[in-house]
Amino acid sequence: MAIRIIVKEPDEVLHKKAKEVTKITPNVQKLLDDMADTMYDADGVGLAAPQVGILKRLIVVDAGDEHGLIKMINPEILESEGEQFGPEGCLSIPGWNGDVRRAEQVKVKGLDREGNELIVIATGLLSRAFQHEIDHLNGVLFTDVAERVYEFDPNRPPRRELENR
Ligand SMILES: [Zn+2]
Repeated sequence: MAIRIIVKEPDEVLHKKAKEVTKITPNVQKLLDDMADTMYDADGVGLAAPQVGILKRLIVVDAGDEHGLIKMINPEILESEGEQFGPEGCLSIPGWNGDVRRAEQVKVKGLDREGNELIVIATGLLSRAFQHEIDHLNGVLFTDVAERVYEFDPNRPPRRELENR
């Protein structure tokens, strides 16, 4: 088990496009395992490799549903359906939330840790997590796509809106 340091805004690595993984090496597999450990340690539902400073197309997600932990290499969205609108946060932007419009369901294709094709049909939170993490691989953060961004203070609900400060 190895926990990596999570890169935070405004680190420029978060705004770069990650490269496709062409060969699944033990290093790539170790990175996926470390990313999962890091995500759980930080109480996240997803993590993308650029968030640990590595520009490779790798993500891990676990929305606490029946799919459990998914480690995916070179993920891409094949189909999107419906719409959901709600709050979203990011381990790289602690203390902030944003309301983001996402597809309610996505069909995602990639490779699993062993290099086998993996297709997941995700709905709800898992769908949101996939879209958020795949955005990371393209250098896009939730703050780039949110309709509004606001400070999140767990000790002082309700949330204060950035626009009102
Ligand atoms: Zn994020």
